[in-house]
Amino acid sequence: MNTKENKPPKPPILVSSTSTPKIPQTTDGFKIPAAPASRPLQANNQVASSSNGEPASDVQKDNNKLWAISDFDLGRPLGKGKFGSVYLAREKKSHYVVALKVLFKSQILSSDIEHQVRREVEIQCRLRHPNILRMYGYFHDERRIYLILEYAKHGALYRLLKARGRFDERTAAIYVRDLTKALMYCHQMKVIHRDLKPENLLIGHNWELKIADFGWSVHSPSSRRMTICGTLDYLSPEMLDSKPHNYAVDLWSLGVLCYELLVGLPPFEAKDQHVTYKKIRHVIIKYPDYVSDLARDLIGKLLVIRPEERLPLAKVLKHPWIMQNAPDGTKPPIFDAEQK
Ligand code: ATP
Ligand code: MG
Repeated sequence: MNTKENKPPKPPILVSSTSTPKIPQTTDGFKIPAAPASRPLQANNQVASSSNGEPASDVQKDNNKLWAISDFDLGRPLGKGKFGSVYLAREKKSHYVVALKVLFKSQILSSDIEHQVRREVEIQCRLRHPNILRMYGYFHDERRIYLILEYAKHGALYRLLKARGRFDERTAAIYVRDLTKALMYCHQMKVIHRDLKPENLLIGHNWELKIADFGWSVHSPSSRRMTICGTLDYLSPEMLDSKPHNYAVDLWSLGVLCYELLVGLPPFEAKDQHVTYKKIRHVIIKYPDYVSDLARDLIGKLLVIRPEERLPLAKVLKHPWIMQNAPDGTKPPIFDAEQK
């Protein structure tokens, strides 16, 4: 049932980037935001913690510290992105465990994604929510930029989904509920994610879902005609047409994700991109028999062409499919190593 088996995660599609303002470059040809460079690692985060269980108070005190790679012991690679790799790392003094995302400046400049990295840093550093991956700060050297991230112990939801084929309704509903709560917080903070897909969702220490990868996110309101970004399968009709868009694009992606968690494949997937376009434009969705009526009802209320008619996030939380399968207090299931 799992046709994603041997496919690598899909890269975002960039149709045009004309709407993004250019940022003046520094002497090393690279500009990063000035704000959080000296932000200390926070020890009050429940997931990333010092390996000896002690609070990292010495790190917290040192408010003006600028980080350098020599402050970290590097561990195993956790994954590879298009522009660099992610490593497990431990801050030497506090033993605080983090993930270090290492990006090459040369590649960032030659691929013209400087603005994307800036946005990722500016936005993700500000967000504090149990279902959003923390970014503690960043630093850079001559050739690389390092993003200091919360370590998500159980990796990408994409891998878990691929290994299991699909999730039962209870598991899917818990993930959708937690994603909805994280999106409500993002939207309150005036951030639209715009690139929600299983590759960008990580699983934390307690198997909780964490939204990561804010490279395509924007501060709202965003009235300009936007660049088409994100993987085609998750794109809302208005983004497909490069129309101005708002928070409701994340509601559409939530509907796509809900289907994918239950079925194992996104609803509009097709070999031919033109077919995917057509399926999205006409909202052509086929449900396997095992998908419940209530799940279909919720998905149907999110995958609506007119953005303003999509079910608002607060109502997603009150939808009977969520209320019945993921009542308050229920936690995501624990999958053991073999099950994974
Ligand atoms: P891009 O979107 O720029 O091409 P990417 O999205 O592929 O890059 P990331 O998603 O940041 O790159 O990281 C690649 C992989 O590394 C992820 O799919 C995940 O498996 C792993 N990874 C990234 N960040 C973390 C983290 N904080 N904790 C654990 N694993 C991580
Ligand atoms: Mg990613």
